[in-house]
Amino acid sequence: MTFEDLGLSPQVLSALADAGYTAPTPIQAGAIPHALAGRDVLGIAQTGTGKTASFTLPMIERLARGRARARMPRSLILCPTRELADQVAENVRLYAKNHKLTMALLIGGVAFGPQKDILDRGADILIATPGRLLDHFERGGLLLMGVEILVIDEADRMLDMGFIPDIERIVGMLPPRRQTLFFSATMPAEIQRLVSTFLNNPERVEV
Ligand code: AMP
Repeated sequence: MTFEDLGLSPQVLSALADAGYTAPTPIQAGAIPHALAGRDVLGIAQTGTGKTASFTLPMIERLARGRARARMPRSLILCPTRELADQVAENVRLYAKNHKLTMALLIGGVAFGPQKDILDRGADILIATPGRLLDHFERGGLLLMGVEILVIDEADRMLDMGFIPDIERIVGMLPPRRQTLFFSATMPAEIQRLVSTFLNNPERVEV
């Protein structure tokens, strides 16, 4: 199996070659074709399996056409921690280097103003931890009705950290007609419940 077989564009293939990736990992081979086709995906995978590329690559492809409007991101990646959000942003920068996509990173512990300015300019991809996202939302700097693709990364860690009420609030503000890619290393009952409310007939990919 090669990245070419997965249906990725020449721009993304070139970025992957520059990153030194030679072949997709099992979660990438399993998830990318479904995500590119617009399906919802439930990915059961640990960190280190290459799960980040399995949702960022199809997201980049699907957003390649079109442009974000002020304060209305076109996609949202929710992460449990600043560190994970930072890593996801690094991955997006690497994989989207041949695209003109804009990205905003909303994490706690850093200044609010610059994040607001980036949202004002329009972000195709918003990467956020739940608390800081809700801060921006409550101050009126963020509108969520333009989100076409939602990713929830490390859902079981969100549960451990007590973020499920925040996540449910955020997802409740998104358009129901969207693509949802949901990743978790484990599937406790509370996570199963979220899967059945947030995802629509998902493809399940377990590695
Ligand atoms: P992740 O599980 O997404 O945190 O990825 C773990 C590490 O594997 C990261 O450093 C990625 O850059 C790297 N990686 C992801 N996919 C591939 C691939 N197909 N080939 C080589 N390295 C990869």
